[in-house]
Parts: sequence; structure tokens; C-alpha cells
Amino acid sequence: MILENLEEVNKRILCACEKAGRDPKEVTLIAVSKTKPASMIEEAYGAGVRDFGENKVQELCEKYKELPQDIKWHMIGHLQRNKVKQIIGKTVLIHSVDSLRLAEQIEEEAGKQDLIIDILLEINVAEEDSKFGFKLEEAESAILKIATFPHVRIKGLMTIAPFVEKSEENRSVFKKLRQFYVDMQSKNIDNVNMSLLSMGMTGDYEVAIEEGATLVRVGTGIFGTRYKIGENEV
Ligand SMILES: *Cc1c(COP(=O)(O)O)cnc(C)c1O
Repeated sequence: MILENLEEVNKRILCACEKAGRDPKEVTLIAVSKTKPASMIEEAYGAGVRDFGENKVQELCEKYKELPQDIKWHMIGHLQRNKVKQIIGKTVLIHSVDSLRLAEQIEEEAGKQDLIIDILLEINVAEEDSKFGFKLEEAESAILKIATFPHVRIKGLMTIAPFVEKSEENRSVFKKLRQFYVDMQSKNIDNVNMSLLSMGMTGDYEVAIEEGATLVRVGTGIFGTRYKIGENEV
């Protein structure tokens, strides 16, 4: 099933790129493997996928140990400051930097290990109370501040769009983030390399690509439904 799903998702990515007049090489699919077992990741890996997304530190660390070393792990979930130490050096990209204090913690731990950590700033474009992230209006000053950190490199922006019935409803969210991204690119801020825009999930990745996403995070569309126990997604 995973192979067929991957084929379908890749086909749709190609279609969305074509529709938008974009080079498919600009778009990377991140297979969001949270809650799914190593065996399913291995299946996707066998089909050539190397970018996987996880949202929990412990799960990411366990899979990191167990699975092939050339996997590129993306941290996409809310990251608590006291867990930063555990994932430093294990990720290619932390998408979910949602506060200055978290960026400071990453700077501190990265400094200790003499690493430079690539991050995205998570932006709560729709200003939903239930979501983490900077408001758009706070983002520029946060970028300017984090740009002065020697062991952290801002590579772009990420958003989790609202849950909607029709993906079209999120187009304006993606457009807004892309506009801000382009504004920031044009400022050429030292130590900031605005080249990645992480937006779009199973329900809306095609619209996100049409609006400029360079990273799409697809879980359900590849691995199938995740199960929930009570309120907690497991
Ligand atoms: C779970 C998750 C995804 C993938 O969601 P699907 O709807 O299953 O594709 C993408 N991004 C983040 C931040 C997530 O937590």
C-alpha cells in the first residue's frame, strides 16, 4: 500500500508543479512517519524516500538509532526546550522553532557541540489559539534576533494551515506566508538563507505547492490513518 500511495503522492506533486509552472526539483516530499513503525519507514526507504518527519523527540531518537544513517530526519513537532539536547545533530532541519527562547536553547546546545543547526521559523499565519508559532507581525524581529546566533541558521519558514474541508480554503494562508518569505528574501539578512518554505500536508499539499512550498509534509497520504487514543494522537 505504501508504494502505491507514494506513487500517487509523487504524481500529484508533479501535476501541481506543472500547473504552477514550477520545476519539480524545487519540491521535496517529507514522509511524515510519526506513530508508524520502523518497518513502514523501511518500505518507503526502499522506494527511495530519504526525508522523514517526526513530531516527538523520543520517537525520533529511537528511529534514528534503529534506521539507516542516510535518512534525513525532520523535526516537525513542538519542541520543548529541555529536550533540545537530545536531538541536536540528529536532524537535517528543525521546522518548528516557535519561540525566541527555543532558538536560544538550540543556540546554546549547538554551541556546546560546535554544530550549526538549520532551522525554520514556525509561523501561525491564521493566528489559531490551538497552534504554536510566531505571528506574522512578530516574525521579522525574531528573524533579525536569531540571525545574530552563530550556531543557528535560519533556512526558511514553516506553517501548519488550519484544518479545513476544502484545501482551497487554505490558499490565502499559503499566499500570505509566501509573500512574507519573499519580503524576507529581498532583505538579504546576514546569516539567513531564506530558501525553504515548509507548507502543505495530506489535505492541502497541492495548493501549497501552487503557492510556492518547497517542502511538503505528508503523513496520512503515504502511511494511512493514524490512530487516536482519547485526545492524544499516538
Ligand atoms: C502530522 C503532521 C503532518 C502530516 O499530516 P497528514 O495530514 O497526516 O499528512 C504534517 N505536519 C505536521 C507538523 C504534523 O504534525
